[in-house]
Amino acid sequence: MAYDVIVIGGGPAGLSAAVNVRARGRSVLVVSNPLEENPLWKAERVDNYLGLPGLSGAELLERFQAHALQAGAEFRTGRVLNALAMGSDWYVSIGSDVESAKAIVLAGGVARAKKFPGEAEYLGKGVSYCATCDGMLYRNKPVAVVGYSESAKKEAEFLASIGCTVTYFDRPKQCEITGGEKAERLKCDGQTVEAACIFLLRPALAPTDVFPGIGMENGYVLVDRTMATNLPGVFAAGDCTGTPLQVSSAAGEGLVAGQSAAKYAAEQMK
Ligand SMILES: Cc1cc2nc3c(=O)[nH]c(=O)nc-3n(C[C@H](O)[C@H](O)[C@H](O)COP(=O)(O)OP(=O)(O)OC[C@H]3O[C@@H](n4cnc5c(N)ncnc54)[C@H](O)[C@@H]3O)c2cc1C
Repeated sequence: MAYDVIVIGGGPAGLSAAVNVRARGRSVLVVSNPLEENPLWKAERVDNYLGLPGLSGAELLERFQAHALQAGAEFRTGRVLNALAMGSDWYVSIGSDVESAKAIVLAGGVARAKKFPGEAEYLGKGVSYCATCDGMLYRNKPVAVVGYSESAKKEAEFLASIGCTVTYFDRPKQCEITGGEKAERLKCDGQTVEAACIFLLRPALAPTDVFPGIGMENGYVLVDRTMATNLPGVFAAGDCTGTPLQVSSAAGEGLVAGQSAAKYAAEQMK
């Protein structure tokens, strides 16, 4: 289905954007991992969110999501792997599916992990970010999975269910990928395995992995006062745009990005 706006990331920035797209009467799809895997979920107590002191991060997130649902936002659990502009539409791939929209709000938070040595070199050549997209290519073969969440464990179970022999690395500290023309082995925290494919299943992707060519400054997405990026129709909000990395600033920027994206989508349909 085609939406007016797709929001990538279901944290405070993305949920605020979704509420404000709906407030402008536009359709919106929020794509994110399960709420319990959002970094704020672990905060025992948030005391500096205006009007709601003393709630846990989980309680705040549940309220934010309920608000967005009540406003009519649609939700999809998954990771956006990449996005492509064609004509006046943006197409985003979510696992092995594709959805489209006139405008995008990128609200993916901070991608904390640095790339492993060999990762960029072998991406698409025996290194994958998506088990459900590429798993079938490696049926009945040995594969390695580096995971950081319960969703990643489910993707590893999917690989095992189609006959792959899976070695799972749970939140390793340091890994390295080596091989020849293609990736052949993975070394994580001193353990080395040979693998036909290495699946790196991080909860957040770097903005430049999803949107090649997006303007960045000091590791953050560069935006103007309307939260527009350098890519037409792509807006960004929250931690991915820079400090302060806080709930209030994320929610505020989400509001501006949601309004700007809704306006942009409406203009495309004139
Ligand atoms: C333990 C802890 C305590 C904190 N305490 C406070 C506090 O007391 N007060 C305060 O103001 N702030 C606090 N923070 C900071 C606060 O959590 C962040 O500033 C806020 O969550 C940022 O919101 P966001 O929407 O920009 O990003 P996030 O909340 O990080 O949400 C982004 C979501 O998008 C997902 N995502 C990323 N890429 C993709 C993709 N390609 N496809 C699909 N989904 C994707 C991410 O996995 C994530 O779930 C705390 C943070 C932590 C970790």
